[in-house]
Amino acid sequence: MNFELLQNIELNLKTVLVRVDINVPFYDGKISDASRIKRIKPTIQKILNSGAKPVLIAHFGRPNGKYEAKLSLRNTLEALQKELGVKVNFCDQTVGEKPKNAIKKLEKNTVLLLENVRFLNGEEKNWPSLGAKMSELADIYCNDSFSVSHRAHASTSSITHYLPSVAGLLLQEELGTLENLIRQPKSPISGLVGGAKISTKLELLKNLTKNLDHLVIGGGMANTFLLAQGKNVGKSLCEPEMIDTAKVILADAQKQNCEIHLPLDIVCAKQFKSNSPFAVYSSDSCPSHSMILDVGSKTINHIQTIFQKSKTLLWNGPLGAFEVEPFDNGTNTVARLTADLTQSKSLISVAGGGDTVSALNKANVTQDFSYVSTAGGAFLEWIEGKELPGLVALEKAFKVDKP
Ligand code: AMP
Repeated sequence: MNFELLQNIELNLKTVLVRVDINVPFYDGKISDASRIKRIKPTIQKILNSGAKPVLIAHFGRPNGKYEAKLSLRNTLEALQKELGVKVNFCDQTVGEKPKNAIKKLEKNTVLLLENVRFLNGEEKNWPSLGAKMSELADIYCNDSFSVSHRAHASTSSITHYLPSVAGLLLQEELGTLENLIRQPKSPISGLVGGAKISTKLELLKNLTKNLDHLVIGGGMANTFLLAQGKNVGKSLCEPEMIDTAKVILADAQKQNCEIHLPLDIVCAKQFKSNSPFAVYSSDSCPSHSMILDVGSKTINHIQTIFQKSKTLLWNGPLGAFEVEPFDNGTNTVARLTADLTQSKSLISVAGGGDTVSALNKANVTQDFSYVSTAGGAFLEWIEGKELPGLVALEKAFKVDKP
């Protein structure tokens, strides 16, 4: 790590603008997993313990530069106070006079949370003018969000041109652990990619096939691949406009000697609802009125044989609709068998991503994986050896003056 660490600097009552990732999953109007909040605690605690003021800057969802009440970070306030165990004030503006005043008035041992930075037009465009405005709020910038460091945004990149910048304790832990475990992964290497859509993980899939021996595709994304193979997927979540892309990914994988594994059998129901009546079919026989919500036992057994002969596993995205029973069975069973292989030392298992963390917590296996990262896209890009703009920005940033 070629950048300055929060761990090594004197904070001396300063104000620290901390870029955190508290983009926690919501289900049924409630936070379904608070892991991302829990994991920023050491950094916040370190700042508070040294008498400095932590000001949190973060995003929530994809508001595309416009205010949306349901994506206000105010919705995370209660969970933040509970998990951090300190008072957290909220400011409904992200930059400007209002947060400046809120910082001036911030009492000891209190955290300030700023409104969703993605409500601002310049955030995702990495506007220097926005980075400059953010810098007026603090003396030091701290990036504690490895999971958003693959984005060149104003709060991960531009800001570092205007403030001395350091890496927080979580970012340091994530990078250090990943470096130890998988910088040079042992072969055979398998990947499991699941979740909702191909379109959001397209680049990732294209690049992953270059590096993997086996790629298991599950979740809603597998449906588009089944469709590309000419199979009926009924009313399942799928992206027909991505069929050609799916075909290219399948063809490229073959050239690159990466074996792709799609579901062999599927669990189907008429509704995405807890305990909906369901039936299991072969993957080419989804009824027209049903949707695929999980993988069946043949698929689970097949995945087990692949993982048993693998030395390294990279996992991003659930195998099915893990939030609702019984469609969590595929994800839970494969998570458990991965945990057992890890514990018996035959597999190094690294998983990452918001919903993945939540699914593995639900399956109660997080502690039995080699490592579970808060980052999904960032950790997979890092494995590919790509430069992550947020980390490059930290490397180039100027250092904190020594007292
Ligand atoms: P992602 O954020 O892309 O990792 O997607 C996670 C979401 O994918 C979870 O909310 C799952 O419920 C959803 N998901 C996984 N499999 C399916 C499926 N077969 N049909 C609908 N949603 C699914």
